[in-house]
Amino acid sequence: MLDLIEKLSQKIDCAENSKTLTGALRDFFIKNFKITRLDILVQDNEKKGLVDFSKDWTNPAFDTEQDKNIQDIFQKIKKNKYITDYKNFIWFSLPKNGESLGIIKIEGGTSPDNIIEFMHTASYLISIKIQNIMLAESMKKNLDFYELMKDIAKIIETQYELNYVIPLIGEMIDKFMSNCLIYIFIRNNSKMELMWPANCKDKTILEETEKLTGKYNYNIFQNGKTGIFPMVNENRLLGCIAAKTMSGEFSFQDINYLEQLAKQSSSTINRAIVYGEILKHATLDALTGFYNRRHLEERIKQETSKAKRQKTSLCVIMTDIDFFKRVNDTYGHAAGDLVLQTVSKTIRSQLREYDIAGRYGGEEFALLLPFTRMEEAVMVAERLRKAVENQKVDLSKINPEKAHSPISITISSGIYEYKTSDNPEDLLKKADKALYEAKESGRNKIVVNKDE
Ligand code: GH3
Ligand code: MG
Ligand code: MG
Repeated sequence: MLDLIEKLSQKIDCAENSKTLTGALRDFFIKNFKITRLDILVQDNEKKGLVDFSKDWTNPAFDTEQDKNIQDIFQKIKKNKYITDYKNFIWFSLPKNGESLGIIKIEGGTSPDNIIEFMHTASYLISIKIQNIMLAESMKKNLDFYELMKDIAKIIETQYELNYVIPLIGEMIDKFMSNCLIYIFIRNNSKMELMWPANCKDKTILEETEKLTGKYNYNIFQNGKTGIFPMVNENRLLGCIAAKTMSGEFSFQDINYLEQLAKQSSSTINRAIVYGEILKHATLDALTGFYNRRHLEERIKQETSKAKRQKTSLCVIMTDIDFFKRVNDTYGHAAGDLVLQTVSKTIRSQLREYDIAGRYGGEEFALLLPFTRMEEAVMVAERLRKAVENQKVDLSKINPEKAHSPISITISSGIYEYKTSDNPEDLLKKADKALYEAKESGRNKIVVNKDE
């Protein structure tokens, strides 16, 4: 018998999780006692019922019908340590500090007496191993939860458009709450709109979300199987997360997780909404600090009318980075962004304070130079071209694997001087025509549009 205990000990030592442990025990008992079936049932964290240890017991689904029967056996076993029944089943208690952690149910076997004698000692060994695994798996679940909370907060670092943010949140929560269906609703014109996934056929959920106005606590209904968790920010109802368990009812743990996830999501979603609104009214481009296109067009109108009125000269330089697509393709988008920032800084450092720099498009800049004649503008453009050419960009921080030595960037420019007969819209078009020629004739150069 001691031999067998030793063998069992070796066998279960290698098991790392609830599934592999159950498998190892099944193998062992089939081989040594010719049993036909073995199941492990443990009490869930909240002691609501017994759950199948070989499944995801941290996400239990209770089957109330079966539970009642098993609960009765469990209560009996606590006193007797094991019971057998006429159908060739034996139930063993898994001892824990004078109490019981759960049940091992064994079916078949050539000699029940031998199994009972063996389990007299073995049940302690198995119970300790189960306790260790339960502890490790609950800890992992909590760690996954905190990882998820962090990831939801971090979305805002790269995305602020709700159309991207919400599916990301939805997929993350759906993956973590693997026993639930998850829906995300956002409030729009005081109506709840389903944002993720594409549709929801559950009428109760649709009705309950509509009722949500002004109610900020979570609500569990349909026999504890469905929950609505409002997303609120500073007393404003942003939307809600609806969750439905696929079987059984929510555990306290599930509700706690979902409540916190709704809080975290509402803070990310609120920041996305606020950030989106700020950008709408912004005059500056976030990446380069130059004026954005909308504001640039505004300034062109002002400057052309000023030049006309005051009879002063005004030039515009259209500048575009050469082969910029290659930077993105070779080193990634983040490296491309760094190049854009570096080039825009270099350009700004070469301009006078009252010169106006705008980001016209992706890697295209429009520079307005008031009180400037063509000859001077050519000098400025040439100075910019050289400064950018001489400025190496170190991408090693952004892309440690690929970028070994700093890279060189060049720009091409087209220049045009404003004439009183020009419309404001003509200005950029005419400079752009010269820029096109600069690209066509080899890049890293400047071309003037004399418009004669
Ligand atoms: P050319 O010398 O003819 O100007 O070639 P190019 O590769 O610079 O020009 P093209 O217009 O083909 O490519 C511009 C690229 O700039 C394509 C686009 O993906 C990229 N881009 C636009 N905006 C951004 C941005 O904000 N960040 C990054 N990283 N890339 C951007
Ligand atoms: Mg380009
Ligand atoms: Mg371009």
